[in-house]
Amino acid sequence: MELYRFLQQQGFGSRKECRKLIEYGLVEINGEQADNWRAKVQPDALHSLSVDDEPWQILRGPVYLMLNKEANTETSHKPIHHPSVYSRLPLPFNNLGVSAVGRLDADTTGLLLLTTDGQFIHALTSPKKQVPKCYRVTLKHAANSMLLSQLQSGVLLRDEDEALAVDAVLQVDEHTIHMTISQGRYHQVKRMVAAAGNRVEALHRIAIGSLDLGELAPGQWRFLTPAELAALG
Ligand code: URA
Repeated sequence: MELYRFLQQQGFGSRKECRKLIEYGLVEINGEQADNWRAKVQPDALHSLSVDDEPWQILRGPVYLMLNKEANTETSHKPIHHPSVYSRLPLPFNNLGVSAVGRLDADTTGLLLLTTDGQFIHALTSPKKQVPKCYRVTLKHAANSMLLSQLQSGVLLRDEDEALAVDAVLQVDEHTIHMTISQGRYHQVKRMVAAAGNRVEALHRIAIGSLDLGELAPGQWRFLTPAELAALG
């Protein structure tokens, strides 16, 4: 494969843009500056790539990422009021068509998965799959046993035929609960809390299944490990 094609495959832009990157001397392959965009490369034999002095982990299949979403960012490719979560990722991922696995509200923070694998998105967001998602919920009014028991026994939301109940709810302090739900209805946590007589002041997704953010700082992303990916499947 010609080098510029390989760069294109890695998400570095159009054919023309990739040729320019090489012509401008911005591409290093296996530690050496590339100068010929027509040079033949064997993708499997390449072990390092850097573009514009930024090391790039060579992609060898679909991309699976986690992002610690900041507040005031939109889970949308066409954001209206705030920057897009996609602007937090290197451009190649966007060129390759990375999309979020479900949405978080603009003011919600925490764990967001992103991938180029449409089947993975479908599998994880399908109502049949029921992956538990755990949220830290900061409440306007102090939590009480009534709130917890209503969330456990189920609340009826507008446009729903059946009451929705949490998988688990735990009081952390006076104004904080951890709430685990398996469905993914629109504004589900906020609407369930409102239906149980309280109000969400802040919402942070802590975990999806067994996957959590660990030490990932707000606004930062990382690749999922193969083990993490397998655990979600
Ligand atoms: N439930 C909500 O209300 N908002 C989110 O962003 C996620 C779950």
